[in-house]
Amino acid sequence: MSKIAVVPGSFDPLTNGHLDIIKRAARVFGDVRVAVMNNSSKNSLFTVEERVALIEEVTAIFPNVKVESSSGLLVDYAKSVEASVIVRGLRAVSDFEYEMQITSMNRFLDESIETFFIMTNNQYSFLSSSIVKEVAKYGGEISGLVPMQVEKALKKKYQIR
Ligand code: ADP
Repeated sequence: MSKIAVVPGSFDPLTNGHLDIIKRAARVFGDVRVAVMNNSSKNSLFTVEERVALIEEVTAIFPNVKVESSSGLLVDYAKSVEASVIVRGLRAVSDFEYEMQITSMNRFLDESIETFFIMTNNQYSFLSSSIVKEVAKYGGEISGLVPMQVEKALKKKYQIR
């Protein structure tokens, strides 16, 4: 039986770091669901629909990757798609404490769901959606940091040619 794994996140917007994690998860798990979490406490640049559409476009080449959105608890979403694994990316030590807290809480909520971590590719360890947005906002070069479709969408948002 192929395991269903959820790759959750805000993806505001998707970066090459995220994409690398999704790609590697898709090599290990038979069925990968990218879950765009609608976190009301975060001020997002892209709507959930825009984020889903961008990730769908970029991941269309992977037959075992599906993109969905969820506004509830991650463990509830995982249960609803019968996923037994949550996959998260780890960049630096700074990610560790936050991830540890979330993982412990998710285990408290549902201990049948296991969280797996994939270490970032070195070239993406300093890459985040926030830093990409900051650079894009002021017209800085972001090609190589995000997929082409995301670069286009960011330029459109910030009205940069
Ligand atoms: P969240 O708001 O849930 O942290 P993000 O969109 O920031 O959502 O990140 C989603 C997942 O991708 C997280 O597991 C995060 O650690 C991971 N991630 C983010 N950027 C990178 C990167 N450059 N390399 C590897 N993993 C990353």
